[in-house]
Amino acid sequence: MRTNTMASFGDFRCGNCHALVSSMHMLSAVNNRNHCPYCLWSCHLDLYSAGDRLSACKAKMKPVGLTLKKSRNKYQLNPRGELMLVHICTDCNSVSINRIAADDDPESVLAVYHSSLDVSHPFVDRKGIRMLHAGDMDAVYTQLYGQNVEAALF
Ligand SMILES: [Zn+2]
Ligand SMILES: [Zn+2]
Repeated sequence: MRTNTMASFGDFRCGNCHALVSSMHMLSAVNNRNHCPYCLWSCHLDLYSAGDRLSACKAKMKPVGLTLKKSRNKYQLNPRGELMLVHICTDCNSVSINRIAADDDPESVLAVYHSSLDVSHPFVDRKGIRMLHAGDMDAVYTQLYGQNVEAALF
């Protein structure tokens, strides 16, 4: 029985919007896709590092905001850091940051960003993650659409 084992390995159904999500690297351009490209909700699967799948929690993780993560790669396109999604587990309040995949809906990413502007997340601060605020709008648009706010809106 070898039917479709490669193609379907890692595919999952979103626990929030119930869409079938493909984990194929070709589509998402990230390894270890762990969130839904449509609603951006994730699942608490990893314990120590991305992709280890060691967490016993398995609860849904809500996208609560965006952050910028600096990498050590000197060739990276964005000197301020790469735009990342911040997820919080609805069950154990665990916080994780995740790369935005190539097929994630930019409108959904933007919606998460805007909804994060009027709430405070003290537990996120405690982990040392700086949530993006209204002053970071240019960085968000530049990374999502390749142009700044004015160019994207007008
Ligand atoms: Zn979903
Ligand atoms: Zn959890």
